[in-house]
Amino acid sequence: MSEGMLLVLSAPSGCGKTTILKRVMAELPGLVFSVSHTTRAPRPGEVDGRDYHFVGRDEFETIRDRTPSGFLEWAEVHGNLYGTSRQEVERLRARGLDVVLDIDVQGAVQVRRDWDPVTVFIAPPSLAELERRLRGRGTEAAETIALRLANARREMKAAADYEYLVVNDVLDVAVDALRSIIVAERCRRRRAPSGEAVELRL
Ligand code: ADP
Ligand code: 5GP
Repeated sequence: MSEGMLLVLSAPSGCGKTTILKRVMAELPGLVFSVSHTTRAPRPGEVDGRDYHFVGRDEFETIRDRTPSGFLEWAEVHGNLYGTSRQEVERLRARGLDVVLDIDVQGAVQVRRDWDPVTVFIAPPSLAELERRLRGRGTEAAETIALRLANARREMKAAADYEYLVVNDVLDVAVDALRSIIVAERCRRRRAPSGEAVELRL
């Protein structure tokens, strides 16, 4: 069985990445989400082990500082530490599953350097609309929203380093674009749109 691909998805916070991803994952088999570790506190409704592995700073640093590091990549984002478990990603890819890494632009730089990922940047139609969505989601305090908007301006500059750009204006269009990218990348690797290996019967 061939190894699954790594799919790096980055987007400014509040852009709709989680919403798009949920829809695409419900429609496409063979796609799994890599659950990151973070030192950030859980938001209401977030579940430990499903949305993130919520850990203290000490535990995060212990995993990070192993040799080789327990994290495939890690970064400090909005004042918290986030990292992708190397062991989890390797286990999933070995099963032939395509692994989605929802990581920031600093993490994407590290993954691009050491692996051969498919990279997708999701952008909001405008910064004003991004602010509306962040406020509308109602999960962030006013100062956190200001910090996330300032970071968004910086992150958008990195969009050019990604292979694909998806603008999340109309949700259905963005979902269709991400699904199409994944299907095309599977075909490029001689796999069926479902993710299964293709056997040519000649
Ligand atoms: P992210 O995971 O990028 O931080 P979310 O998926 O939580 O963002 O989306 C942020 C908010 O924007 C949510 O309230 C979501 O319902 C809303 N949203 C997502 N996509 C769209 C869209 N295309 N049009 C309008 N609102 C959207
Ligand atoms: P949030 O706190 O809104 O869930 O995520 C904040 C930012 O951290 C997002 O840009 C998200 O993509 C990023 N992030 C989440 N997990 C990881 C990770 O494991 N590594 C890196 N580098 N960034 C992550």
